[in-house]
Amino acid sequence: MSALGTDLVQTRVLGAVGRGKPPVHASMSIGGRWVGAVSGARIDCIDPTTEELLGTVPAGGPPDAVLAVQAAWEAQGAWRAMGWTRRAGMLRDLAAAIGEHAEELALLDVLDSGNPIAGMRADIQSAMAEINYFAGLAGQTHGVSTPTDAARVSFTQREPYGVVLRIVPFNHPFKFASGKSAAALAAGNAVIVKPGEETSMSAIALAEIAESVLPPGVFSVVTGTGVEVGDALVSHPDVPRVAFTGSVPTGRAILRSGAETFTHITLELGGKNPLVVCPDVDPRQAAVDAVSTMNIARSNGQSCGSTSRMYVHERIAPAFTSALVDRLGELSVGDPVDEANDAGPLAFSAHHQRVLGHISRAIDEGATLTLGGSRPEGLDRGFFVQPTLFTDVTDEMAIARDEVFGPVQALLTWSDLDDVVARANNSPMGLTANVFTRDLQVAHDLANRLEAGYVYVNGTGRRPPGSPFGGWKHSGMGKENSFEELASYTREKTITITLPPRAPDWAGS
Ligand code: NAD
Repeated sequence: MSALGTDLVQTRVLGAVGRGKPPVHASMSIGGRWVGAVSGARIDCIDPTTEELLGTVPAGGPPDAVLAVQAAWEAQGAWRAMGWTRRAGMLRDLAAAIGEHAEELALLDVLDSGNPIAGMRADIQSAMAEINYFAGLAGQTHGVSTPTDAARVSFTQREPYGVVLRIVPFNHPFKFASGKSAAALAAGNAVIVKPGEETSMSAIALAEIAESVLPPGVFSVVTGTGVEVGDALVSHPDVPRVAFTGSVPTGRAILRSGAETFTHITLELGGKNPLVVCPDVDPRQAAVDAVSTMNIARSNGQSCGSTSRMYVHERIAPAFTSALVDRLGELSVGDPVDEANDAGPLAFSAHHQRVLGHISRAIDEGATLTLGGSRPEGLDRGFFVQPTLFTDVTDEMAIARDEVFGPVQALLTWSDLDDVVARANNSPMGLTANVFTRDLQVAHDLANRLEAGYVYVNGTGRRPPGSPFGGWKHSGMGKENSFEELASYTREKTITITLPPRAPDWAGS
């Protein structure tokens, strides 16, 4: 462990990051110690609203991955041995400690990611709820007994993998770093989180909070790029379990990397989620709901669940479109710290360019730009894009097929139910599918026929706690937010004990 002393630094994020404050050069947390990268390299953290430097985080690489895995294994044995009741208690303490810093954590994510303050407040609450949910489930990792004859006892037990690597994306920085670690911790694993390199600050803040609640080394945060440190962690032979949330191409790369070591991998990937709007709904209300389901006010439309592919019945399409334009036009875009604003900038410059690229391609391919499409007036700095609507979209256009991951909606129309199901299913992705209707038969029929891991009929995004979430097709492998997620951090062992014959000198009757 001596190499952990390399470039040992201790710069806190909590209480230190803010506009107008000096940049914070943060440490990452490996094995309960605060360190920089062995290489000394750093990544800039830019406020996407002001384009100013908030600070830097270590740019970890392969040597840091080796140290993190070693430290996690050193901590894991005692964590597992302490039993689920004590682990659950500590997780509840962690949720409570997060609650004490809720406002500061929300603001940190606003500054680092550009997401609106209301959305980030909701993220912190959601993270706490998820941690408490898995604390409550911690005792459910029990096995089953198998009926057998009197000469044998046969049963299964679920054991933690030991070390779990959690790689998360940039869009819900704190919520994912914390909530998505809870199940693996509850099951008795040490967890290493690799946050998105563009929004790592709040994961480090989480490690600062966890320091006073969890035993050292049980929870580590390793910062750096995916290609440098992410891949080194995935391909490490002593990382038996990887849970990834991010894009489809990275999911594919992780599967390839983990193949060498037969790593157990689950994937939560991208979506191009269809929303089928039926003719029996009120088009004005449906338009309001279709804006809300884009998650613009939560994460500027940078959401895996955004309903960016809308199929609207042609009879109500004109009224729906006009209401949609009204609703999108009402959204106030600006500094996400300001509660009066519904939306802020995109998280970083390269992503801003990527989203603008999707917009220009849609125009080139002949879609009608009905609203937005560029930087809002008066906002000369920051990675802003107006809420954008394309109409006259056809299924072949890229804007109807590719995930944009921003505040950009594509509107297509339909007239035949079978046809719209086929069109909605004609995508390699299958994260969510969404239906607006008041007709129960249509609701059931569509819910059965749409190819997605999660189908919302009305009320998109309102997920009851414990309802399994995870994509079909190229949108993922495995389920989260549910018992299935907890169980996925354990491996099942079957034990059959053949009872020895009674000893000849046995004294009993
Ligand atoms: P991304 O795939 O670019 O990166 C995600 C994470 O993977 C980051 O931490 C990154 O550093 C890391 N990474 C990149 N290359 C890697 C490699 N070769 N090995 C190991 N790690 C690597 O995704 P992003 O741009 O940060 O996030 C947006 C994507 O995430 C979208 O596609 C979105 O739909 C998806 N997403 C899915 C869900 C879900 O629940 N299904 C939730 C949120 C986001």
